[in-house]
Amino acid sequence: MLALPWLAERYQQLVQRFGASTLHHGILLSGPQGVGKRELADALMQAVLCLHPRSDGPCGECQSCKLIEAGTHPDRYVLESDKQLGVDAIREAIGKLNTTAQIGRHKVLIIPAAERMTEAASNALLKTLEEPTDNTYLLLLTHRVAGLLPTILSRCEKHVIATPSAEQSLNWLAGQGHDEVDQALLNAYGNAPLRVARALTDESALSYRDFLTGLEGLLGNNQDVTEVASKWQDHAEQVIYWCQRYYHDQYCKTQRKEDLQRYQHCIAYAVRVRHPGVNKVLLLSQIFSLLKQA
Ligand SMILES: [Zn+2]
Repeated sequence: MLALPWLAERYQQLVQRFGASTLHHGILLSGPQGVGKRELADALMQAVLCLHPRSDGPCGECQSCKLIEAGTHPDRYVLESDKQLGVDAIREAIGKLNTTAQIGRHKVLIIPAAERMTEAASNALLKTLEEPTDNTYLLLLTHRVAGLLPTILSRCEKHVIATPSAEQSLNWLAGQGHDEVDQALLNAYGNAPLRVARALTDESALSYRDFLTGLEGLLGNNQDVTEVASKWQDHAEQVIYWCQRYYHDQYCKTQRKEDLQRYQHCIAYAVRVRHPGVNKVLLLSQIFSLLKQA
């Protein structure tokens, strides 16, 4: 079952349409990171593969549900990828979709980071989206719709998943044992409750509090720029995003030209940090030096 209240209604609608055989075979879930797109896709996948689905979702008891729970369902394919998703991986997945389902009637392919598909990979997938195999569902997920080919977009039924309200997020986080989270911390993670939860449970993650302490140390000349840049290199994107927010708030408070400039530097670096192969220590050292100036 899907334990994210802000997605409950959409989930129910999708499950009901599956039950009525009117669910589109290609579904695109887009929206910011940490709002539950993957959780929604996983829940829908289970509802589709369940052998004895109820009107409100999977039974949780059949062979299919047990296999999903164990992570070994043979008709469930997930194309995870940290890097680009190439044509070979897509062809292999499509090859599997073209075989007969082994447990029930249906097969599901989830592509969690669809924006990582190369153009060739997208074109290979396009054929399956245009002429779907029977009983097959493709669930594409992305936090960056602009990274997908227009032809892919036009073949999918699109669902935009927005960030939940602050009240919904804070209630959910409290239910997960994170009742110390306040509005400011939620804002620091783009109002995405699952990002907050992950950051609080992942010991390797940089916490917002540690970021603020580090930044104040830098600005107060208590910490060396290169030292902090090396320490934070694995969190470069997050750090620059937080710097950007920090100076946005500063400028709103002070209305000083210097803070506006710093904010603009952060925006420029937020783009640069996403370039593949960029030297993150160097980049962070540069932005920290710019922020200290004035
Ligand atoms: Zn079941």
